[in-house]
Amino acid sequence: MNKLKDPIEYGIVIPKEVNNLINKFDSTIKIKIEDTSKLLAQAPIHNSKIIVLSRGFFNEHKNIKFITNDILVIVAHELGHIVLKSHFVKLFWISFICIAISSICIIISLLCLSMKDFFYNSFSLMLFLLYLGYISRNEEIRADKFAILKANVSIEEFTQCFSKIETVLEKEDNRKNIFISSINKTFFNFHPEIKQRILTVQSLTKK
Ligand SMILES: [Zn+2]
Repeated sequence: MNKLKDPIEYGIVIPKEVNNLINKFDSTIKIKIEDTSKLLAQAPIHNSKIIVLSRGFFNEHKNIKFITNDILVIVAHELGHIVLKSHFVKLFWISFICIAISSICIIISLLCLSMKDFFYNSFSLMLFLLYLGYISRNEEIRADKFAILKANVSIEEFTQCFSKIETVLEKEDNRKNIFISSINKTFFNFHPEIKQRILTVQSLTKK
């Protein structure tokens, strides 16, 4: 991650609607800007008091511009990660430890030239990785639902914002490097497809 700065250092003014939304949940959370033109947003797992947005959200991308409503959607989603965090962090560390242990077991079985153990340990490693992928994707959907049901983003605003993101990613063909992650990207990047996220959100009815 590039060095993070306050929005004002890039001449970015965070709309007051966005600040009001943050204050509704936790006024100590601050927005920090990452210096990249790519689209990137995250609530880092190690620091629940910041939401990181890339400079890309405040640039124009070939006629596509992210307006206040779009920033609201993205911040609402990241707030979801922060507010719902404790449940996910527990599952994340459990699966992380399981992955570490089965990796060590694979190395030991190789050193001992035991093909049977190697097979069983590789199989369990694969299961833990699948589980990690599952809980990560599930967490994205949970944060999306939070944005709609708790942060009162409308389904139309959500759809508009994510359609813009999809279009920019398609145009810039940098889909692989990105996107809206709740966790440190050096570990992995497991996200549901944007189209799937829009469909899931559209199936929600406000209670
Ligand atoms: Zn997310």
